[in-house]
Amino acid sequence: MLVNAKEMLTKAKAGKYAVGQFNINNLEWTKAVLQTAEELKSPVILGVSAGAGKYMCGFKTVAAMVDAMVESLGITVPVVLHLDHGTYEDCYKCIEAGFSSIMFDGSHYPIEENIAKTKELIAVCAEKNLSLEAEVGAIGGEEDGVIGMGECADPNECKMIADLGVTMLAAGIGNIHGKYPENWAGLSFETLDAIQQKTGEMPLVLHGGTGIPADMIKKAISLGVAKINVNTECQIAFTAAVREYIEAGKDLTGKGFDPRKVLAPGTEAIKATVREKMELFGSVGKA
Ligand SMILES: [Zn+2]
Repeated sequence: MLVNAKEMLTKAKAGKYAVGQFNINNLEWTKAVLQTAEELKSPVILGVSAGAGKYMCGFKTVAAMVDAMVESLGITVPVVLHLDHGTYEDCYKCIEAGFSSIMFDGSHYPIEENIAKTKELIAVCAEKNLSLEAEVGAIGGEEDGVIGMGECADPNECKMIADLGVTMLAAGIGNIHGKYPENWAGLSFETLDAIQQKTGEMPLVLHGGTGIPADMIKKAISLGVAKINVNTECQIAFTAAVREYIEAGKDLTGKGFDPRKVLAPGTEAIKATVREKMELFGSVGKA
């Protein structure tokens, strides 16, 4: 059964560990993440971006697949199905489709409009028992070939949004999506500390988990980060493993062309990445 992220993240913040959000792209991805979470007895959040949702034939298809898979695999650990960086419209589509959590990314709206829309969605989520993630201060990354260095959120704006009653808060602290550039300045722990001081119990979310050094991840968790998003790293691991299979010519021997065989090394690579992250985040055995 799918759960919302509230209890999971409250426990994580209190216990000084973080729950990983792993973005899914297809059936193999979903299976790999769920099986690893079950094996390690870790709570888990499945993230779905608008693009991935579209690719998987819509949010309804995704919700039905995840629901059925949780049942057929006999998953007992808590699983959250979460919309990643949702537009206002997509938030409603996911609420309708049966997601258990949404992120409303209103960071591009003026703060007043972000607040008004966030308030409205908080009320709808409360009624339907979903959790809601809000974002303050845009999180950088590659956009149209321009790589942003990652903004830092204003701690006072963070408090304003947290006080509306969101479940968890994503705040820019110099983190970015995708691969980090060579000259990246690192996370701003000063900003993170200031945000935590202002927002108290609120579980904080770190986006762009790929390529942040382990010691920075641990420090971020010690300063209130309770959810860490991982996406790019699983993609890189998956593709590298499939590439190795093809380059070794394994698709040309016997029934090696069977798609289940071609994708198997990629699926195993996702599992290894998820395992490594769960161990780093400290969520193993916490379900
Ligand atoms: Zn993100």
